[in-house]
Amino acid sequence: MNTPAFNTVEDWLQFDREHLWHPYTSMHNPLPCYPVESAHGVRLKLTDGRELIDGMGSWWCAIHGYNHPYLNAAIQTQLGKMSHVMFGGITHEPAARLGKYLVDLSPEPLQHVFLADSGSISIEVAIKMALQYWYSQGQANKHKLLTIRGGYHGDPFACMSVCDPVNGMHHIFQSILPKQIFAPRPETRFAEPWSPEDLVEFEQLLKTHQTEIAAVILEPIVQGAGGMWFYSPEYLRQVRRLCDEYEVLLILDEIATGFGRTGKLFASEHAGISADIMCVGKALTGGYMSLAATLATRKVAMGISQGEAPMLMHGPTFMANPLACAVACASIELLLSSPWQAQVQQIEAILQEELLPVLSHPKVADVRVLGAIGVIELHAPVKVAEVQARFVEEGVWIRPFGKLVYIMPAYLMSEADLRQLTCGMKSILND
Ligand SMILES: *Cc1c(COP(=O)(O)O)cnc(C)c1O
Repeated sequence: MNTPAFNTVEDWLQFDREHLWHPYTSMHNPLPCYPVESAHGVRLKLTDGRELIDGMGSWWCAIHGYNHPYLNAAIQTQLGKMSHVMFGGITHEPAARLGKYLVDLSPEPLQHVFLADSGSISIEVAIKMALQYWYSQGQANKHKLLTIRGGYHGDPFACMSVCDPVNGMHHIFQSILPKQIFAPRPETRFAEPWSPEDLVEFEQLLKTHQTEIAAVILEPIVQGAGGMWFYSPEYLRQVRRLCDEYEVLLILDEIATGFGRTGKLFASEHAGISADIMCVGKALTGGYMSLAATLATRKVAMGISQGEAPMLMHGPTFMANPLACAVACASIELLLSSPWQAQVQQIEAILQEELLPVLSHPKVADVRVLGAIGVIELHAPVKVAEVQARFVEEGVWIRPFGKLVYIMPAYLMSEADLRQLTCGMKSILND
């Protein structure tokens, strides 16, 4: 093919509009998409030359910014060796190195690593591990999950079954979705004194359904796409205690929170607890490639492997992709050699200074800041297309959803860029 498929940007944009699905969009009347030509540092460059300060980190991923020389070099070096080989019966150093980083960095009990090809698949694997663990213990009746409302764990069916039933539009898929058990979202905020009432219904459900619950699954401290809600570490400690008491496994979804976003390497460190099964993804590769991991304790891994179904029944084609593993190793090295804790603290301080004052604005329902996450919750849903165009005019990339306008910038973002971002966020209030 030596004739170009498209002559102008407008040509391919039109093809895109008519033929390509974007996340959560209509094919009939899609919202406009902005054509990005390249990205560098914390800036996205549009095809018309305009540059936007990126507030989204490509959905929690790009913690070091774009086009980072160290990450680029890691991929290039690996590319010269091999971009992919099957993981069945074959192994490679990038996988082993990444596995070692994950085992060393995560809480001590987590010793076994499954390298999945995306966050949602790592959740599917976590759920499978939990169910298969109990099956192997002769307790196949333990096959349900207990979770909290307002969660988000991905879009495939098992993941969706533990997403918030309303946000996750469970009604559409009722006929196929497994029925899980939902407790209320914890209402005690991150820094508030803990209120034991938060736990009453959760404990009641655990007690009632103990013999059928395989695991509790939740996002530690920060509920992301389900509503950007930050809750008390004490709640998480109590959940860990109850899981032990009622003999169910605890699955922590650190896909959005992992690798420093909340000010700790993993959000569960705020509570000083560890999971039986933990998922990481998103920032794992610094936002370069799709890769995730499900970590399990020795008890879970051996429990599965010594039962009557001794193999974990999962193995994606692109499991442990060497390019993705290599860039993930480089991203972790970069993170650990950077002053990320000071950077995240500095971002948190500026976000508090810039955003907390709008709490008194009549359009604002709530403002929340934790680590490098800043959220303005409005009383009314945002008109995305309109607001998006305004943000682009202001030179920032912020993608609101529902009533939430939020950012999670790269850790190395300068103070000036961050203040321009928050200024853009607040511009939504001046109508
Ligand atoms: C994004 C996300 C997922 C799904 O990850 P994908 O890589 O999009 O499949 C799961 N859980 C949480 C908390 C997430 O933020």
